[in-house]
Amino acid sequence: MNSLPTPFYLYDVDLLRATLDEATSQAARYGYQVHYALKANFNRRILALVNEYGLGADCVSGGEVQAALDAGIPASKIVFAGVAKSDEEIALGLRRDIFSFNCESLQEMEVINDIAGQTGRKARIALRINPDVDPHTHKYISTGKAENKFGIPYAEVDKALGMIGNLSNLEITGLHFHVGSQIRYMKVFADLCLRVNELQEWFASRGLQLSHINVGGGLGINYDDPAAEPIPDFKGYFAAFASHLKLRPGQTLHFEPGRSIVGQCGRLITRVLYNKVTPGGKHIALVDAGMTELIRPALYQARHRIENLTASPDAPQQTYTVGGPICESSDIFASDITLPVTRRGDMLAIMSAGAYGRAMSSNYNLRNFVPEIFTDELP
Ligand SMILES: *Cc1c(COP(=O)(O)O)cnc(C)c1O
Repeated sequence: MNSLPTPFYLYDVDLLRATLDEATSQAARYGYQVHYALKANFNRRILALVNEYGLGADCVSGGEVQAALDAGIPASKIVFAGVAKSDEEIALGLRRDIFSFNCESLQEMEVINDIAGQTGRKARIALRINPDVDPHTHKYISTGKAENKFGIPYAEVDKALGMIGNLSNLEITGLHFHVGSQIRYMKVFADLCLRVNELQEWFASRGLQLSHINVGGGLGINYDDPAAEPIPDFKGYFAAFASHLKLRPGQTLHFEPGRSIVGQCGRLITRVLYNKVTPGGKHIALVDAGMTELIRPALYQARHRIENLTASPDAPQQTYTVGGPICESSDIFASDITLPVTRRGDMLAIMSAGAYGRAMSSNYNLRNFVPEIFTDELP
């Protein structure tokens, strides 16, 4: 591996398989259905593995719907969320007869109804309801609080139901929720369940039968100590829903995990190019990967563990800031972390980068997209 040009993403196939195995077998205990959230990582081989383990897909764009179909995921397992779906994206979902549109506003209900009418189809929709639950996560990855742009507010649910009689090309088959991402406290999911139970009572009292409930994604991973928890606690996660959510007879429960499936299997491999010491005595290691390859630290103040793969085991420790080559002051991967003394040419691994890493890459500074390599392809 030392001879490979950097930077690149390295995916651990065995860990990805073990994670998919654990997620699917824990979900199967309760008959829950899992739709992988493509936006976390849409690498083709990862999608093929997701399909091999029988997961469906959660998509947030027409491009993702197409990628899921191309990977062999059946349309009957595809859900399509997104706060601003274009007419073309809606038409694609209708043409391919996907399982459900997760519908985020009253206006979107009218638009889907119109497009379905023009093409002589009926659209199955789930109302994405903003549950106003605080996920206790970073505000940029919180989606289910009343002030967020996502979903239909509680106060408008009554109106949505009233509209249904006039929207003859729509069939409301479910309710959809998504509170946010990187949620590590199971209590957040328990709170969500209570909200869902309340809403279910309300829908039942109005005589509306729903065939499915979709509680979104959001299960977090251990960024601080990935080795201690390479596979997230799917057992506890599904058990929280099993014990708090009251499903009605015949209802199916659906999940949309992204990060928890692919986060830990990926790492960004980079080389140290330069070492600097600021006038204040701060040591900065400048590496060949930047926010163009992994934007999470710059965008969300996310922390990723960093390891020096090539330092000798007896090298002394030193406090470092690790930064990239991009012309932005926020292009910093970590500040004040301890690493073995790091030299030009050392190879570093930025851990837990499988989710929202490569997928959020950009060409900024006219940089090329980096390769993605799987452990079983290494020379
Ligand atoms: C992003 C997203 C997900 C996946 O979230 P994770 O935190 O990666 O599990 C699931 N559902 C919807 C609607 C999303 O927007």
